[in-house]
Amino acid sequence: MFGTAAASDGCSRRVFITTPVQVRASRSSPAFLRTSSRAIKTYASCSNSSVVNGSVIEFPTETIGSRFPDFFGTPTALVTEAFAKVIDGKATAKTIREEIAAEISKMKESSGVVPGLAVILVGERKDSATYVRNKKKACESVGIKSYEVHLAEDCSEQEVLQHISAFNDDPAVNGILVQLPLPSHMNEQNILNAVCIDKDVDGFSPLNIGRLAMRDREPLFVPCTPKGCIELLHRYGVPIKGKRAVVIGRSNIVGMPASLLLQREDATVTVVHSRTKNPEAITREADIVITAVGQPNMVRGSWIKPGAVVIDVGINPVEDTSCSRGYRLVGDVCYEEASKIASAITPVPGGVGPMTIAMLLSNTLSAAKRSYNLE
Ligand code: NAP
Repeated sequence: MFGTAAASDGCSRRVFITTPVQVRASRSSPAFLRTSSRAIKTYASCSNSSVVNGSVIEFPTETIGSRFPDFFGTPTALVTEAFAKVIDGKATAKTIREEIAAEISKMKESSGVVPGLAVILVGERKDSATYVRNKKKACESVGIKSYEVHLAEDCSEQEVLQHISAFNDDPAVNGILVQLPLPSHMNEQNILNAVCIDKDVDGFSPLNIGRLAMRDREPLFVPCTPKGCIELLHRYGVPIKGKRAVVIGRSNIVGMPASLLLQREDATVTVVHSRTKNPEAITREADIVITAVGQPNMVRGSWIKPGAVVIDVGINPVEDTSCSRGYRLVGDVCYEEASKIASAITPVPGGVGPMTIAMLLSNTLSAAKRSYNLE
């Protein structure tokens, strides 16, 4: 049976309130409408079917409530309620920020230097402005000096390049971040390529990605979001070596580097994308699932191998009139269902999101240590 509960974000949530676990058909079919990457999707919670790659996927309920081994090796049990350990990205990110702050404080004491991060924001997108503001706040909280340039939407590519060049030459700036997306009249590749490799704290330069992909090469920086996913696995003691991993999504900033990182850690990795046939069967083979798709609740409980570890990168706003802002954030994974099948899972929000900024701070600290020979 479903009930409603108040959540920390001020929205009411549909939750299971009685046993046994059974995923029931919802009263209405979900309508996942993706009009743009930032659009709010209409949404009808998790139901026993979902639209994936244009086809309706039925969710077989019999996979739930069976006995299965826990990924962490603890005794198994009949699953009647949420089973998965919650991988708390918010708490982990806080710990990491405290570690970084302590290191920066020592660095300042011993050598008088502090790391510096420059952010270039072009245009007036509210979401980008919020990300930049949060990054600035996070920098301040750990003692990183932040520099910011805010350019008008109609500024020229040349102007952006000039600012990058100035930051490249400034020894007080250890990391440079160009907030994406850029306005459509700009060539993103030209701009990202202009960031000096030693200051590419986003890790997006082809040289860093190339090194990440090659054996026996070390990237100077690893892209923050996938780095955050792996850090969560490490900090929660999830073994990766020899495990089967599925990454859903192959974007340059999340899916692709996440798959490379897992491979570097000796997982056997399969990448699922929008043209993959039968993604649920492939995903069901994985001990570790990382999703970076941008489709609310696409990954159902039936996609998850019992006992698997699930890292949900997706951040999808969905319409919710019970929230004061009219929407709430959900992941790519139907948490309600998957948390009863997986052995550990990240929530959305409060999972991978906070880790991304923590990893940016970590990359900036590494850049400073490298530049001042403090490693
Ligand atoms: P993206 O560039 O749009 O890439 C989405 C990927 O998902 C693509 O590779 C696409 O396949 C694949 N995909 C789309 N529909 C699919 C389907 N039905 N079945 C299987 N694969 C499908 O997105 P992104 O930048 O990687 O971001 C993904 C999600 O993560 C978004 O919700 C975003 O908001 C979130 N995100 C979160 C953080 C964080 O800090 N937590 C950071 C970055 C992004 P094709 O390649 O075939 O098109």
